[in-house]
Amino acid sequence: MLRMETVQYQLPASRIPTTWYNIVADLPSPPAPPLHPGTLKPLGPEDLAPIFPMSLIAQEVSAEREIEIPGEVRQIYAQWRPSPLVRARRLEKALDTPARIYYKYEGVSPAGSHKLNTAVAQAWYNKQEGVTHLSTETGAGQWGSALAMACAFLGMECRVFMVRVSYDQKPYRRALMEAFGASVTASPSNQTDSGRAILAEHPDSNGSLGIAISEAVEVAAKDPKTKYALGSVLNHVLLHQTVIGQEAIEQMALAGDEPDVIIGCTGGGSNFAGLVMPYLGRKLRHQCNARVIAVEPAACPSLTKGRFAYDFGDTAHLTPLVKMHTLGSTFVPPGIHAGGLRYHGMAPLVSHVLDLGLAEATTVQQLDAFSAGIQFARAEGIVPAPEANHAVAVAIQQALEAKAAGKARTILFNLSGHGHFDMQSYIDYQAGKLENYNYPAEEIAMALAGLPAAG
Ligand SMILES: *Cc1c(COP(=O)(O)O)cnc(C)c1O
Repeated sequence: MLRMETVQYQLPASRIPTTWYNIVADLPSPPAPPLHPGTLKPLGPEDLAPIFPMSLIAQEVSAEREIEIPGEVRQIYAQWRPSPLVRARRLEKALDTPARIYYKYEGVSPAGSHKLNTAVAQAWYNKQEGVTHLSTETGAGQWGSALAMACAFLGMECRVFMVRVSYDQKPYRRALMEAFGASVTASPSNQTDSGRAILAEHPDSNGSLGIAISEAVEVAAKDPKTKYALGSVLNHVLLHQTVIGQEAIEQMALAGDEPDVIIGCTGGGSNFAGLVMPYLGRKLRHQCNARVIAVEPAACPSLTKGRFAYDFGDTAHLTPLVKMHTLGSTFVPPGIHAGGLRYHGMAPLVSHVLDLGLAEATTVQQLDAFSAGIQFARAEGIVPAPEANHAVAVAIQQALEAKAAGKARTILFNLSGHGHFDMQSYIDYQAGKLENYNYPAEEIAMALAGLPAAG
């Protein structure tokens, strides 16, 4: 008789966390404050009020350890949360490793990624304060889809500036946003001053996240009914993602296991933070001793090659200055397929945690990421988002290291989303059309030379 082995560790809806976890309360030192781009003085809430609702501004600067999740938000979470924790037994066998590999699967959300965790929360808080329209940017389209869906659920209007190259390459993502009722504009566009300025200089611009952010912020700043929503980087966004790690801690307990290494891919840092911050809280309380690894693409290596300095979040320099690992706000990353990882900066909170030595960072090349994704798909039956492939690659590396050492090791990684809307990138990979990009040293040096003189 075949003995059944547990593969999924599921929690009931009643175990959806009731609070978000704010690691700021437990850190030995607080992160550096954001600065006003004009005065270079720390920002006050009133500086952010034109673009964000007060409740989210309060979360942005909060040092409270636990922030209650509104009942209605939890109710919407219940549609896909708690998300499964899966033991990758078939992958373990394929790798012939003594390591135990677990992944937290955020691709079960209706939008296909973790981004819905914050989209629902942000739309909800905006609605409470009478906001009727949200504007945002999207790179690969995952954030735009998540916010569009959240707005549809809450009866709000959603306007998305989509990076031009993705707009052209990912018609299905655009169609999904439109199906949810959002209006989608290719960025740079001629509908904003920032877009027109870029087009005047580069009529064929492929766009970038930095440019699209400028356009979306401009729209919000100019219209009192519209606020802006960002899908990563900011403290309140990372906060909303901590449901991932809190659930994972309970599910790992169900599995009777404790991770030795925890891995997440990092674009702006939100899915990584969502999984690891609750664990780092335990680490700070000496209840966990895991290595924590952030994985970024070799083509856009903000954590491993960037400078930890004050910089703008966008290209047109409309945003506050934040202290983060940055490649320079004018750096336009090479066109890797992991669009969600093509951002010049990193969440200030993730940057700070790295600076404190609580986590480490590494890079993966595009072809290695896809090769790992294919290996994972064949063993586990899930085609990961190209972004998530970066985490998969390092999880596999870790498992192979354990094998070489002949030692057990418990590996936990975040599978931040599925790749069902990214199949073109898999077609291109299988056809041998993808390439690795060398570290764009010259462009980064140029962009870093233009860092603002602050801090
Ligand atoms: C957006 C996205 C990322 C990168 O963003 P983070 O804020 O770093 O999490 C990673 N994976 C998926 C599936 C995404 O949609």
